[in-house]
Amino acid sequence: MSTKDYLEKDYYKVLGVAKTASQEEIKKSYRKLARKYHPDANKGDAAAEERFKEVSEAYDVLSDEKRRKEYDTVRSMPGGFRGQQGGGFGFDLGDLFGHPSGTTTGAGERIGDLFGGLFGRGGGGTRTAGTRRARRGADVETEVTLSFGRAMNGVTVPIKLTSEAACNSCRGTGAKAGTVPRVCPNCEGTGHETRNLGNFGFQEPCKECHGRGLVVDDPCLVCHGSGRATGTRTIQARIPAGVADGQKIRLKGKGAPGENGGPAGDLYVNIKVLPHKVFGRSGDNLTLTVPVTFPEAALGAEIRVPTFQGQPVTLKLPEGTPNGRKFRVKGRGATRRDGTKGDLLVTVDVHVPQKLDERSREALAALREAGGGEDLRADLLQQARQE
Ligand SMILES: [Zn+2]
Ligand SMILES: [Zn+2]
Repeated sequence: MSTKDYLEKDYYKVLGVAKTASQEEIKKSYRKLARKYHPDANKGDAAAEERFKEVSEAYDVLSDEKRRKEYDTVRSMPGGFRGQQGGGFGFDLGDLFGHPSGTTTGAGERIGDLFGGLFGRGGGGTRTAGTRRARRGADVETEVTLSFGRAMNGVTVPIKLTSEAACNSCRGTGAKAGTVPRVCPNCEGTGHETRNLGNFGFQEPCKECHGRGLVVDDPCLVCHGSGRATGTRTIQARIPAGVADGQKIRLKGKGAPGENGGPAGDLYVNIKVLPHKVFGRSGDNLTLTVPVTFPEAALGAEIRVPTFQGQPVTLKLPEGTPNGRKFRVKGRGATRRDGTKGDLLVTVDVHVPQKLDERSREALAALREAGGGEDLRADLLQQARQE
């Protein structure tokens, strides 16, 4: 509840009574309406619940002679409160309560605005619109673990963020549900008092309200009057295709909400990518190790090679392919920032046969007899002797 409510809501109309109604009439009307719209009698009826709240709010103000007088005074002022110096309210109520004009998204963040107006002042200062400084929300950092495939394809993941927000029960006012904070009588709502030292006047935060300009008679039971609560919110974070393990993604404006119309902070997401059974990553390229037999490597061969989430491709091994040679399959790697793709790097792993059938053994023996075409260690012994 805020003074904005005072301005916009006609509590007399809500209770269906005249402006001159007696306390007795107000009470009678309230009881009738409260019974009618009570949540117990209207289970699940949101409209009735809303009406019940309105009625309670109206009664809270009008049943309290002091508050009713404030309300009447406020409503009788032409053009709101601005510049109403020297009257019943020597300050700018609109500013004090923080009209939710700056931030735009969601009720929760709007309350951040109201909040800033109420609590965001440490010291004295005058309550003019100019002193409500816009503050950028804090940056938030979090971690997300993705499977290899999700990192390759990009994914939208829900991220749950915990942050301090206005208490839901009292909407950040710190006052018990159904009550409103009262304008501080000590400082008349300015939040500061002037102490005179000789010829100098010092302004310091009001001791009565600790600079809030408001006092809470019945503290909210949920937040014990602090007005703050730890809230969780879930945001949908878009992780672009091709992110790699260890990368940090910045999501602009997804951090903590700003205050007094300031921009939201950023959200930094540290990416963890789980390994794949077969494919690895090297920058924008994917890596793959393919076993080949000795005859395939020696004689040359066409082998089928898998690609990530695509059709296998045929790789031509030339005659005499050495172990460890790398082949490049264009455009079968990870997606780059500009939308183009890296390559698939295939490394050949030549296998020595472990189990030989009779025919293979004979063939290899024949190869040995033939000398294999070269003597690998011809110069080794001699070269080893050199200094
Ligand atoms: Zn005060
Ligand atoms: Zn509360």
